[in-house]
Amino acid sequence: MSESTLTGLQGSLSGETYDADTLMGTDPVDGRPLLARYDLQAAGRTLTPESLAGRRSGGMWRWAELLPVRDPRHRVHLGEGATPLLPAPRLGAALGAPGLRLKAEGLNPTGSFKARGMAAAVSRAAELGAPSLLAPSAGNAAGALAAYGAAAGLTVTVLMPVDVPAANREEALVCGARVILVDGLISDCGAVGARLAAATGAFDVSTLKEPYRAEGKKTMGLELAEQLGWRLPDVVVYPTGGGTGMVGMWKAFAELEALGLIGADRPRMVSVQTTGCAPIVRAFQAGERFAEPWTGAATRAAGIRVPAAVGDFLVLDAIRESGGTAVAVSESAMDGGQRLAGRFGAGYVSPETGAVVAAVGELAASGDITPGDLVVAFDTGIGHKYPPPPGLPEPPVVAPDVDVAELVSPHPGLF
Ligand SMILES: *Cc1c(COP(=O)(O)O)cnc(C)c1O
Repeated sequence: MSESTLTGLQGSLSGETYDADTLMGTDPVDGRPLLARYDLQAAGRTLTPESLAGRRSGGMWRWAELLPVRDPRHRVHLGEGATPLLPAPRLGAALGAPGLRLKAEGLNPTGSFKARGMAAAVSRAAELGAPSLLAPSAGNAAGALAAYGAAAGLTVTVLMPVDVPAANREEALVCGARVILVDGLISDCGAVGARLAAATGAFDVSTLKEPYRAEGKKTMGLELAEQLGWRLPDVVVYPTGGGTGMVGMWKAFAELEALGLIGADRPRMVSVQTTGCAPIVRAFQAGERFAEPWTGAATRAAGIRVPAAVGDFLVLDAIRESGGTAVAVSESAMDGGQRLAGRFGAGYVSPETGAVVAAVGELAASGDITPGDLVVAFDTGIGHKYPPPPGLPEPPVVAPDVDVAELVSPHPGLF
């Protein structure tokens, strides 16, 4: 079986290199993210289109050469990865983007792509002997960390804002995590978590504050290339919070090119945020390399309610190098996108996905997406864990002996 070709860690801003086989958080030089580096020549000897085609199971671990876990026994696998890239003809036509495809990340365990990142980070932390794990979360990360921590046999603490949706809290509790509710914002949860980690020795797996969640999410970019026959789409539209997926996919494309599996062409990378919390969009439009923290962040889409991201410059670099863009959609456009996705056959998607759907419509209207473009929109999670989009019709309640003539009215679902 294939093995990790991990060689070291590198500071994403400083360029400093570090030993990969000690547990590390951020770059000690500047507090910025550390990125995993691999022996790509060695990886290329066993990671080929043919060998991959023979790896039918394993989900994201099919890409073992480009993942950090050395001993296969430490790979925690709950079924994450290998999600379909679905054509969405009805939704695409409604949005003016007939070449639309959806990367169906809601099919991951725990209902979002947080599973990929946590599968990699938890497995590697267990391999390197972390005694216990913690992370702040306003939503899906908590459930994923709790589930993967339980599978690895590590104790987990999650710090959540008091007003986090009940579903997220309950999921973490059922998976045996210790849940601490912080009377404050997600940034306050992060600060309490950092102090708790220092006091207890728990390893902090906050977004991009350890190197391996991005490696798990990188597999989305690897899968895109494989699923499209070793080429990349014209456009990738991604709801951006901490930016792990943008950073991971951009890295995946570079590694695939170094392996000779794809050429130099890149998709136009589009970051989507909402007008209630859009630090990346604001920095992109202002031509800044780093994003100022957003004050008063507010959006129903908890996964992209991230006022300050430690990997901001990596996201902004990827957008610019790719010729992409960053868009902020309004909260009501996001709500509408979520309902539209459901009505046009994408199922009950997360508000983050709703924001992506709205953004695809806006980019098609402005000509940034053309009808010939192959557009991959990231459907990053299921809708069930969130408060519903406002504006749903109230279903009628009828007696069992109702005269059905009363019900022969226009279909109330088609608002
Ligand atoms: C966390 C999350 C995001 C943002 O992902 P990043 O890669 O951290 O930017 C988007 N959608 C959902 C559903 C999420 O849970």
